[in-house]
Amino acid sequence: MNTVAADPLAALREIAPAAIDDGAGALQLYSHDVYATGPAPRAVFRPATVEELAQGVAAATAAGLAVIPRGGGMSYTGGYLSPTPDFILVDTAGLDRIVAIDEADMTVTVECGVTWDALRRALQPRGLRVKAWGTLSGVNATVGGGMSQNGVFWGAADGSVVDSALSFDVVLADGTTVSTGSGFFRPYGPDLTGLFAADCGALGIKARATLRLVREGQGLAYGSFAFDDAAAFFAGLSAVAREGLAAESFGFDPFLQAQRMKRDSLAADAKSLVGMMKAQGSLLKGVKEGARVALAGRSFLDGVPFSLHCIAERRRQSEADADMAEIARLVTQAGGRAVENTIPKILRANPFPPVNSMVGPAGERWVPVHGFLPHSRLVEGWDAIQALFAAHRAEMEGLGVQAGAMLAAVSPQACLIEPVFYWPDALNPLHRHAVEAGHLAKLKGFPANPDSAALVDRLRKGVIEVFATLGAIHLQIARTYPLKASHDPAAWALLETVKRQLDPRGLMNPGSLAL
Ligand SMILES: Cc1cc2nc3c(=O)[nH]c(=O)nc-3n(C[C@H](O)[C@H](O)[C@H](O)COP(=O)(O)OP(=O)(O)OC[C@H]3O[C@@H](n4cnc5c(N)ncnc54)[C@H](O)[C@@H]3O)c2cc1C
Repeated sequence: MNTVAADPLAALREIAPAAIDDGAGALQLYSHDVYATGPAPRAVFRPATVEELAQGVAAATAAGLAVIPRGGGMSYTGGYLSPTPDFILVDTAGLDRIVAIDEADMTVTVECGVTWDALRRALQPRGLRVKAWGTLSGVNATVGGGMSQNGVFWGAADGSVVDSALSFDVVLADGTTVSTGSGFFRPYGPDLTGLFAADCGALGIKARATLRLVREGQGLAYGSFAFDDAAAFFAGLSAVAREGLAAESFGFDPFLQAQRMKRDSLAADAKSLVGMMKAQGSLLKGVKEGARVALAGRSFLDGVPFSLHCIAERRRQSEADADMAEIARLVTQAGGRAVENTIPKILRANPFPPVNSMVGPAGERWVPVHGFLPHSRLVEGWDAIQALFAAHRAEMEGLGVQAGAMLAAVSPQACLIEPVFYWPDALNPLHRHAVEAGHLAKLKGFPANPDSAALVDRLRKGVIEVFATLGAIHLQIARTYPLKASHDPAAWALLETVKRQLDPRGLMNPGSLAL
């Protein structure tokens, strides 16, 4: 039985007084993730150094408090929402140093609170990037958050973000720091880096990470394609994924596509394109591309049921163009047709945009749910999810709940299906904190709407059940996806033994991964 000391923050205050924030505003903000709400922490602990992190964690757990790590806070699966009020929330924002960029050995070592955006800004001028180089939320989302719940988007052809990791320094529940593996090769023996990768902070707090660098391709080619139905879309997506021709390939169903087009600002798109081309040393090309995007306007996807967007990244432009020609051939064979390639161009020009898309175009609430399936089961998965929505159509319409989907290739073996819900409901303090003030001011907003929220909760669970019947796997497992049920019992027992060994009192992010 864990006992909490009478003044559990006393030792922590002594060690790092400046790192403790127990103001009402902070406690409120840090009790929400993008989707749900948990108890407020006793305090937010924002260490300035790795040593302070280790000492603070030791002091908090010695006083009987649980410790819950949080990076950018951009998740929606309860990963940092505590099951107990007796906890401190460890905010890694102060651990944001880029410790060493080693161009000889092609590695970068960072403190785990650094954002993907900051890391990219440091690497890009040197013509380098991390292998899989972050999530679309990377203006706020951190390397530590990505390594802990895994992620896919930029550089998806090179794997998910944990594939970029070589080694970690991890602070355990008692304040001990463990260094995993080797800083230039993985795995070195049994994969201890892999043990902590995608653990959703259940095993420890990642303080530093050494990541693999690759040279960024200077040749970029873009393609967008329209499909009349889901079966043709998935045939095209899988064909591109199997060949590994695109660095990124992703698509939208008709609903999500319409949402995107409502939101994006054309002028801003054209400007960011010009900026990118200028940065690459080609002002003339930038102005031409900007003008082309503006000219293409918003209407090129009107009436397009499904759209697929691909980016080929290679060392030379001629190679990227050749890959895109092959992508176009495969996609056409699958029943797709080329449309204006504005969407991948503007996304690549500004890969970590403001996170305004965490709310709907009129200020609706937003939450995704996802599963990865092998290519052979994508259409079946898609149809099963559509059947679930069809069975609830009247209820959804009555309560203003809408659903779309993002779809993406993640490897030659698998693709992502990510249904996304929108519903009229009040925003929480995290939305108001993370969405740009100017954007927030333009939103209509909605009053609290527990009935719509309850339906979304049921549908989201329903989608997770559908995925479970198909043997899907997930990122961001945290407190939302059923890891235990899909594990071999002997493998699960092994994981429980590891958890007990590293965290015998169950104070490191208790309940994350259901451990
Ligand atoms: C607008 C938007 C776009 C998004 N786009 C993508 C996308 O393209 N691809 C994608 O995969 N996801 C995406 N996401 C989901 C989410 O942002 C990512 O999963 C991201 O990796 C979360 O990182 P974070 O730093 O915000 O982590 P947090 O939300 O702070 O934490 C996530 C989990 O990791 C743990 N954790 C955080 N830091 C550490 C640490 N240092 N050590 C141990 N555990 C830690 C937390 O306890 C929690 O369990 C998006 C979200 C939003 C809101």
